Amino acid sequence: MQRTFSIIKPDATRRNLTGAITQKFEDNGLRVVASKRIQMTTAQAEGFYEVHKDRPFFGELVEMMVSGPVVVQVLEGEDAVAKNREIMGATNPADAAPGTIRADFAESIGANSVHGSDSLENAGIEMAYFFNEDEIVG
Ligand code: ADP
Ligand code: MG
Repeated sequence: MQRTFSIIKPDATRRNLTGAITQKFEDNGLRVVASKRIQMTTAQAEGFYEVHKDRPFFGELVEMMVSGPVVVQVLEGEDAVAKNREIMGATNPADAAPGTIRADFAESIGANSVHGSDSLENAGIEMAYFFNEDEIVG
């Protein structure tokens, strides 16, 4: 069993897709063990995406993440980190496999509906950024 960290991004909450996206996780064997809807501050988004701070799209990324509410979640299941990346699909929706969240819902490479941790180590760091231990209940 693993836990991974997910964010339903503002482009998706704006279009009322929280349930549809969560359904994809559940249909594919992941369980939501923590979930809350928050408005990220600019400082929070900059800290979360620190690894991307030198990328040309950093400013655009932070602006997008604070443009509306997000739903931060912890997902649990077998091989959860890799499984979630599979359910999400490729970063650019044009390259995302049919049936993935990004193929079905993303608007663009920037407004691509979901974030998902890319390693078990980052999953631990990222869930601790938004949740206390006692808010995650498996
Ligand atoms: P992923 O979310 O698939 O792990 P990255 O970690 O490479 O992708 O990028 C983080 C986020 O930055 C992406 O999900 C997307 O919202 C945004 N992003 C990535 N590349 C671009 C780009 N070329 N232009 C605009 N935004 C981008
Ligand atoms: Mg990433």
